[in-house]
Amino acid sequence: MSAVYNWQLGREMEYPYDGAFPDRQFAFVFNINRCIGCQSCTMACKSTWTFSKGQEYMWWNNVETKPYGGYPQHWDVKLLQLLEQLNPGGQTWNGAPQALKAPYGQFKGQTVFEAALKNVSAEGAQQALGYLPTDEEWAAPNRYEDNPTGAEKGQKSRYFAGGESLPQHKTWFFYLARICNHCSYPACLAACPRNAIYKRPEDGIVLVDQERCRGYRKCMEACPYKKTLYRGTTRVTEKCIGCFPRVEGRDPAGGGLPMQTRCMAACVGHIRLQGLVQLNQDGTWKEDRYNPLYYLVHVAKVALPLYPQFGTEPNGYYIPPRWVPRPYLRQMFGPGVDGAIERYANPDRELLAVLQLFGKEQRICSRYEIKEGPKIFETEVRGKRFAMYNDTIVGYAHDGTKVVETTVEEPVHIRPDKHANSI
Ligand code: SF4
Ligand code: SF4
Ligand code: SF4
Repeated sequence: MSAVYNWQLGREMEYPYDGAFPDRQFAFVFNINRCIGCQSCTMACKSTWTFSKGQEYMWWNNVETKPYGGYPQHWDVKLLQLLEQLNPGGQTWNGAPQALKAPYGQFKGQTVFEAALKNVSAEGAQQALGYLPTDEEWAAPNRYEDNPTGAEKGQKSRYFAGGESLPQHKTWFFYLARICNHCSYPACLAACPRNAIYKRPEDGIVLVDQERCRGYRKCMEACPYKKTLYRGTTRVTEKCIGCFPRVEGRDPAGGGLPMQTRCMAACVGHIRLQGLVQLNQDGTWKEDRYNPLYYLVHVAKVALPLYPQFGTEPNGYYIPPRWVPRPYLRQMFGPGVDGAIERYANPDRELLAVLQLFGKEQRICSRYEIKEGPKIFETEVRGKRFAMYNDTIVGYAHDGTKVVETTVEEPVHIRPDKHANSI
């Protein structure tokens, strides 16, 4: 084991290998408040990358309904329980936040790597605490779809009681869209006895070498997010490949510029924004103030990692849903939840402009600038004054090419009279 720095935990932790970081890391932000569970992302991925018999179990991208849904079933609840059993009452956070090095304070509990050291069984130690889901748990990706909490059998009227209001709803569910997090400390990679999993030095995308894989499924056991998938027909493991040809700029549609992945580009709800962030030698993020992902994670602090306490330093970030009870969200996204929701629900001028970048353009935006426009609206939102300005945000690719320009106020297009009756 090596001591590596995990900035999401605000401390060093044990990891089976030394840290090795790319200069630019694949990362993304999903705005859960906008996901409509349409599964366009899921199908975009499947129709691009998976084929032939056996593809029916290859859900590299999936969208599950929380709190009851999950693919494989109950993946997160089961791991949280395992961690709790090994460290009862100890999975807590404290300490003051510190910019870039410890933005959520410090995690005092055990990561999956640290917990594994305490959990030596008859078969020996695991590299990461985990479990192998059963075939039944892998069988169907959409169990409990659209099932809300707060209504028990015989109490159907509670669904329709009305009066739901922020900050929390009594009856709630939300869609959690998931892909591989291309973690900085991948548990899948740590656990593979064949060294068949690697992290690309050029962009940090985590890939399985299918020539080396022998289907031992140690990665499936170790990945806390259960994002490696064993394909029975080929007897090797598959996973999200981060659409690396697009990220490299090899999709002809991008004219040579890096493009966002297929699942990002196909998202109907415009909840997704993907790009590359610059890293320091220790894996912390290099200051890059006008990179939209840097801004959302480290400046506005509205986007949070999924289950940071697992310790893999996932590179997927989520803007948490506003209406969901906070204790549920805190165990899922860590202690940054309250601040993130406060800022998202009362966005300032810059945040409102940056949120317009989601889903507007397929090419990767590495830098933005904002041109100020006139005030168009003013009101009071839950006791606070809110003003909206019709600012324009312009996004540039890494080489300075302008790739997107859009305004805060959505443009209105009036159909010419000559098309009035056409379909
Ligand atoms: S999410 Fe899982 S499969 Fe993806 S890099 Fe992290 S540990 Fe590996
Ligand atoms: S990034 Fe590409 S490979 Fe990964 S889930 Fe999305 S579409 Fe599929
Ligand atoms: S395409 Fe977008 S809105 Fe639809 S389910 Fe996927 S993430 Fe959600």
